[in-house]
Amino acid sequence: MNAPPARGWCPSLMTPMEAGDGLLVRIKPRAATLTAEQAAGVAEASGRYGNGIVEPTNRGHLQVRGLAETGIEDFVRAMADIGLAGTSPRGEAVRNVLADPLGPDDPAARFDSHRLARRLSDVLESDPALHGLPGKFGLLVDAGVALPLAGCTADIMVRSGGDGAVIALDGGDRLLPLPLSAVEDSVYRLLTAFLSWMKGQGRRAAASAPRMKAMVAANGAHGVFRAAGLDGETRPDTGPGEPAKRPLPGFVPIADGPRGYFLSGARFGGLESEALAELAKLARTFSDGTIRITPWKAVLSWGVSPTDAPSLRDRAARAGFIVEPDDPRARIVVCAGRPRCASAKADTRSDAAFIAATGSVPEGPLHISGCTKGCAHPSPAPVALVATAAGYDLVRDGRPVDPPERTGMTQEEAARALAPTLDLASSASGR
Ligand code: SF4
Repeated sequence: MNAPPARGWCPSLMTPMEAGDGLLVRIKPRAATLTAEQAAGVAEASGRYGNGIVEPTNRGHLQVRGLAETGIEDFVRAMADIGLAGTSPRGEAVRNVLADPLGPDDPAARFDSHRLARRLSDVLESDPALHGLPGKFGLLVDAGVALPLAGCTADIMVRSGGDGAVIALDGGDRLLPLPLSAVEDSVYRLLTAFLSWMKGQGRRAAASAPRMKAMVAANGAHGVFRAAGLDGETRPDTGPGEPAKRPLPGFVPIADGPRGYFLSGARFGGLESEALAELAKLARTFSDGTIRITPWKAVLSWGVSPTDAPSLRDRAARAGFIVEPDDPRARIVVCAGRPRCASAKADTRSDAAFIAATGSVPEGPLHISGCTKGCAHPSPAPVALVATAAGYDLVRDGRPVDPPERTGMTQEEAARALAPTLDLASSASGR
């Protein structure tokens, strides 16, 4: 690589972003799956060239933090050597395809979501006609029955349905049922229709990187399908119903079979490179040799036998992962915070650790956000603590931008607001 990689506000591997703790890049494993060798390679390189913090993202990517200017090119080269780099910065930027974690290993899945996700990733990367898509534009492929993509959305979503698949659009109220053989071509048509629409909005509107939601708002889902030349009969999208619960850490056997999956939660959204290296070893010993990145701040090991699950749990716990479903830390969703993000008004991860230790974590996700942007949990949460220059604000049943119920609290006041009967003196002595 001769020229230094470009900087980007929506980072990918070849377009690093400046963050509070150095340069940040995102690795995008195809079908959100890494081999044990690739995971070990990411662990080694993130410790060598970055600050050793790796974060699974809600799009099935791995965010590597704290890279130095001088090490970025070597890091990209190291990722290329293990098959985790695309062939061009633009192809890499638009290759955003989330897949359900089990893919073809889900015994009830109607189609191989991982195969389709890989195909779509290849098309996005290799076709320059698609490289004008906004960097945040993403696809989702979900055939999961045992472990569907609970609570996840994307600009274009392919899910199981009818005799094959259905396509849903972000913000849309209609689904398009399709035979499986037509899905790839139909997604391509939707992508090109979106690009034409974006072009038609004029240069200024296009520069604002609109998303599918905007095209649906302007034309209706039905209109978008028609613009893509997809004139099959649509049906109402009744939505996901009740908000889906995030899967919890621990072992889950599949359909009374001899194997299951184990979810290892990343403490407060991040994991150290040593922990990722240990997980790579565990994948070779206890699972099918892969690590799947889930959108729930957790990594999945597939093919674990019930007899091996306790050993895997103990070693993952020693490496620093959350492994018990009732661990209060599994109910906290927290963003990078200070010093990792320049916009952060507090060290959210250390405050999350304090609140977890006091035992005041409520049921349902507690969102701790370093500012009102709410990166870690874009949808409403039962309780959100939002850092401001004056302390923490508390928002109930809302997003960080929503009006707070209380404002300007210290760490201790925030813990007491979550559990009014909390005795901080005794919870501190019990820590
Ligand atoms: S929510 Fe704010 S503080 Fe947290 S990562 Fe996003 S921009 Fe940074």
